[in-house]
Amino acid sequence: MKKHNFSAGPCVLPQEVLKKASEAVINFNGLDLSLIEISHRSKDFIDVMENARSLAIELLGLEGKGYKALFLQGGASLEFLMVPYNLLEKKAAYLNTGTWSSKAIKEAKVLGEVVEVASSKDANFNYIPKGYSIPADADYFHCTSNNTIFGTQIKDFPETNVPLVCDMSSDIFSRQLDFSKFGLIYAGAQKNMGPAGTTLVVIKEDILGKVSRSIPSMLDYKVHLDKDSMFNTPAVFAVYVSMLTLQWLKDLGGIAAIEKINEEKASLVYNEIDRNPLFKGFAATEDRSSMNVTFNLTDEAHKEAFDALWKGAGINGLNGHRSVGGYRASMYNALSVESAKVLVETMQELEKKVG
Ligand code: PMP
Repeated sequence: MKKHNFSAGPCVLPQEVLKKASEAVINFNGLDLSLIEISHRSKDFIDVMENARSLAIELLGLEGKGYKALFLQGGASLEFLMVPYNLLEKKAAYLNTGTWSSKAIKEAKVLGEVVEVASSKDANFNYIPKGYSIPADADYFHCTSNNTIFGTQIKDFPETNVPLVCDMSSDIFSRQLDFSKFGLIYAGAQKNMGPAGTTLVVIKEDILGKVSRSIPSMLDYKVHLDKDSMFNTPAVFAVYVSMLTLQWLKDLGGIAAIEKINEEKASLVYNEIDRNPLFKGFAATEDRSSMNVTFNLTDEAHKEAFDALWKGAGINGLNGHRSVGGYRASMYNALSVESAKVLVETMQELEKKVG
């Protein structure tokens, strides 16, 4: 029986996607060749890339709004650098909500002035700062929609005339948002989209071309856009599996449908955390992430018993990140409601045993 996979990323993917992907590794499109041994310039692969790009735009509701999608390499971490390379002329504004925001800020500082508009570092990033102001003359404002490690999520994005840039690595395609508010969105594939190895970048084309520096080709969004995301050999397998996952999401009813399922899973687990005296949540209630649920035992003495219970129930990947400790239940799109119920049952079992 497959494990209940609460891993933070790489993470659970739909079983039917894994099956199709494994078939394509042996014989792709009936070509009697593997997907990973054909040319990326073949029509069969170009179709995959085009389909993946257009599914991303369609699912985000950005068709006909001046956006294009790219599937690049280097992870979301390379976007920390590519964003300022392409957009930072004088100064950029950043919201610091955790480890990944801090890393994005570090890269941007290599290229120009960075204004940190607010930070929740004072409380080990357990909340999302609010009420900050964004300098009107900033080239862009960067934020992280979901903080994978700390389990916080931005619910309301700021209203500003400055272009919004967002790292959506750990909650893209999980909830409905007005994605046309953003000038640029990026996300490593390895949470809600596919295997590690490719990064989705969605760009409103008119935000480019405003910096004076010369940009090395591989770091230049324009170069990748002009080459339809095929400037160099793309991560063919990662793009293919991302395409399959996006198709799976579309067939399910798109983001609106998955959002309901994600809300159901999140309320099951958060309700149990709030009800069960043996547990306490880490993140501020109003900023709780629907993707990464961070929680701790109220008494560490129960650690051994709880660990034995969840491991015995076939749960994988529940240990918290070292900077938070405790537990983290990552409940990405492909995690079933059934798996969330199994977790809740193990929490209730613990209460019966020691409570
Ligand atoms: N941003 C966020 C929100 C993340 O969760 C991660 C990694 N999990 C990254 C950026 C870095 O992604 P990558 O490992 O693809 O560079």
